[in-house]
Amino acid sequence: MLFPQQLIDGYRAFLIGRLRHEQDRYLGLAESGQSPQIMVIGCCDSRVSPEVIFDARPGELFVVRNIGNLVPPYSPDGAQRAVSAALEFAVQALKVKHIVVLGHAQCGGIRAFAEETEPLSSGDFIGHWMALIAPAAAAVGPRGDRPLGHYLTQLEQASVVKTLDNLMTFPWIKTLVEHGSLTLHAAYFGVATGQLSVRDPTAGKFVQVAADDYTRLFAQPRF
Ligand SMILES: [Zn+2]
Repeated sequence: MLFPQQLIDGYRAFLIGRLRHEQDRYLGLAESGQSPQIMVIGCCDSRVSPEVIFDARPGELFVVRNIGNLVPPYSPDGAQRAVSAALEFAVQALKVKHIVVLGHAQCGGIRAFAEETEPLSSGDFIGHWMALIAPAAAAVGPRGDRPLGHYLTQLEQASVVKTLDNLMTFPWIKTLVEHGSLTLHAAYFGVATGQLSVRDPTAGKFVQVAADDYTRLFAQPRF
């Protein structure tokens, strides 16, 4: 069989582990349908799985992933828009209470934009897609003499904030946010550190969450 052995082994582990423990939950979700309260918009990056980072059980997170965790502005133009369709279902049908945009460190999409990487194919799909962050890049300003890593972090975080602005261009999202029945959040995951930060909209900056547990767990060198 050409199906990857790694996936078969993983599925076996799922069968005897998670499925055995959560069979009732799966059955219940199959009968009653899903009703997640939280939507997460994350990056395709294999290191940044929302279900893993948030230790989520089946049915808890409605997840959309794309290169750079982006949301194009509202454009009801009849084009086939995957993110808009997912937002429509999450907000209008599932009536999620929260939308979390989860950015991350070492994002290849953000780096490709910043370094004006050559297209990987003649379609330049990544280039066209990542052009969405141009307003965030303008807000961050030219790199100047900033170290590349520092600049990329600023761009990654500015892009998440800009994505919240783009979410607000959807009229039904804007209405619900203004009525207080939907809340938008900007979050940022440090791949190397495992630190999660959430933007405090009042202070206008990202603040580490669960910092006390993080410090306690990682106070000692791990290696
Ligand atoms: Zn990424």
